[in-house]
Amino acid sequence: GGVSFEELLHFLLIAGPVVFPGKIDLGGPTAYNYLTYDDIAARLAALKAENPDLVDIYTAQDKFQLPSAGTCGGSGPCLVWVMEIRNPLTVTPRTPEVFFSGTIHGDERVGPTSVVEFATALLQGYRDGHRWARRIVDTRRLTLVPCGNAYGYYHNTRTELGIDPNRDFAWDQTATFCMKTVAARSINEVYRSHVFQLSATFHGGDNLVAYPWGDNLHCDNPNYYGYCSGGWVAPDQTGMARLTDTVRDFAGGFQGQSVYK
Ligand SMILES: [Zn+2]
Repeated sequence: GGVSFEELLHFLLIAGPVVFPGKIDLGGPTAYNYLTYDDIAARLAALKAENPDLVDIYTAQDKFQLPSAGTCGGSGPCLVWVMEIRNPLTVTPRTPEVFFSGTIHGDERVGPTSVVEFATALLQGYRDGHRWARRIVDTRRLTLVPCGNAYGYYHNTRTELGIDPNRDFAWDQTATFCMKTVAARSINEVYRSHVFQLSATFHGGDNLVAYPWGDNLHCDNPNYYGYCSGGWVAPDQTGMARLTDTVRDFAGGFQGQSVYK
């Protein structure tokens, strides 16, 4: 499903210690076109050129010495672009950090465009003096990975060379069978370089705002699949539920569905 710019703005604003209630008026909905892998690289470069002090861009290949997963057509080896937005004059080691992932599954198309258009609108708003945009850029540090699964997005396929990056982390996975994809390794390196208070990852196929409720791994009984009905609830479940409910209520309906699930 999609997430509106206003919803993202609100999501960001409640990511820190201060809550800002109320709707942000940006002048109504805007129609966007899906961006290609090449469009995204070009847009990030343009945003960096237009906002040299506020924006940094790099690839996971350059910064973390990661390999490329396959090739992305005429653009050559697939690159995982990373964008950071913050105000160097106001950022401190205590500035709240937020992470956005556009796509883990390459055939779930809405995320990369959403993340990149969000960054574009945020920076435009900042230049226009929009007070909420100013607030976000001046008091947050954002890291955005529009296409973690660059190969999958370019080729419009779910996996990265046959491996699902969403099953490629040290979670519900055999210890010797994770970090096989460049997508997962890129995000892992980004996480090791930051302390994120909140993150958002886009998927496709349903209209919902979900959160990590807990897991089925940490029940007392080792035969947990049979005995741990409901799983182990995460310690921040209440906070995540409240946050998600707020985002859902703020977002409103989508394509005939009254609210996001
Ligand atoms: Zn997915």
